[in-house]
Amino acid sequence: MYVCGPTVYDLSHIGHARSAVAFDVVYRYLKYKGFNVKYTRNYTDIDDKIINRANKDGVPWNEISERYIKAFDEDMAALDVELPTFRPKATETIREMIDVIQTLISKGFAYAMDGDVYYSVRKFAGYGKLSGKNIEELEAGARVEVDERKKDPLDFALWKSSKPGEPSWPSPWGEGRPGWHIECSAMSQKFLGDTIDIHGGGKDLIFPHHENEIAQSEAATGKPFVRYWLHNGFVNIEKEKMSKSLGNILTIRDALKNYSAEAIRLFLLSSHYQSPIDYSADALKEAEAALERYYRTLERMERDWPNVANAPIPEEVKQEILKPFIHAMDEDFNTVAVKRFIFQWVNDVNSLMDFASRTGIDEEFQKTLPRAALIFKEIGGILGIFNRNWQEYFQEKKSRSRIPADEIEKLIVKRAEARTNKDFKKADDIRKELEEKGVLLEDTPKGTVWRMKI
Ligand SMILES: [Zn+2]
Ligand SMILES: [Zn+2]
Repeated sequence: MYVCGPTVYDLSHIGHARSAVAFDVVYRYLKYKGFNVKYTRNYTDIDDKIINRANKDGVPWNEISERYIKAFDEDMAALDVELPTFRPKATETIREMIDVIQTLISKGFAYAMDGDVYYSVRKFAGYGKLSGKNIEELEAGARVEVDERKKDPLDFALWKSSKPGEPSWPSPWGEGRPGWHIECSAMSQKFLGDTIDIHGGGKDLIFPHHENEIAQSEAATGKPFVRYWLHNGFVNIEKEKMSKSLGNILTIRDALKNYSAEAIRLFLLSSHYQSPIDYSADALKEAEAALERYYRTLERMERDWPNVANAPIPEEVKQEILKPFIHAMDEDFNTVAVKRFIFQWVNDVNSLMDFASRTGIDEEFQKTLPRAALIFKEIGGILGIFNRNWQEYFQEKKSRSRIPADEIEKLIVKRAEARTNKDFKKADDIRKELEEKGVLLEDTPKGTVWRMKI
């Protein structure tokens, strides 16, 4: 499996998070099913955008790419995205790119022109098969940039001669650097072979990037390039397209300031990976609320009925109850149905616990609780959500409190004193003060406990 990675010239935004999380779930699920998955995701670490950014900041180009590779890796770790098997940088694969380009020239699919090399789009009969575009249509829209030396407006650059002061590598055509499309063909082949099972990326990559990857790889090897193409939809922000010109680009870092990584993942997986999604404060709050409900259910199960919840389940029963999950994921990774499935169990188990706390446990309860516990445990690891224990979840929430925990504890003691002294007004004021700061108090037989408001 190969997924087109980021061009590292700036902080990654929520659109990058979506692609990373979608393919992270594909990766985790295929491993869960027993496949031996080799997953490659590259860094495009040489590009016009990187050079422009370096000129703007007055630093060497590779300082920019190193800075944003590090930032991307940090963001992925924060989002609990598993590391792919291989994470090559384009600049580490230049020799392989030159090899592919030479093969394309020798087979008549590419030509050199004053230090540049171009791909002859008309020579590749299958051009347009992924995007559904045809040559005539493309011809009408084609333009030649002033600094390009190509023979046909449809052709695209495989190798670009470098301008003075630009980063460059030696090649049979002189000093230069690779075009963007050839990177992925070369890295995919180097790490995964001529034909791969899955190639992923955002929908914006279908044309021209992926169309060009097919043209390069299939012309060079004479074999099919990819068996399955998976493309994820865009993220809109409050119903508007995210773009530099609208100034509404939401970085992963900024999103993580307001919401937990788990809530962001749940939000992203609440739509099918191919659909567009709207990022909004409401949608994120909804995700936080759903997590809260989930973890309170776990807490209740494991705190109040640990022996029932942890009872063993026979293997056949296990397979049977997980069927709806497997079925949903096998149908093009339908995480929407998976979420529905989990919350159906959350609802059922809560009703049963309500009932049991009034009338005692029955057979139905003894059968259902361990099944729910198993489903929650099993599925959590694959979605990278619902995968903590409830103590961790509530602890982390508490750590995000605006007032320090020891201050809260002090106020709880003060409130208890006030209540002992029958000063109920004071006790109530303390409760209200805490609530305004997002802290909820709950009086239990074992004393007062606190939790964060959602
Ligand atoms: Zn790519
Ligand atoms: Zn690609």
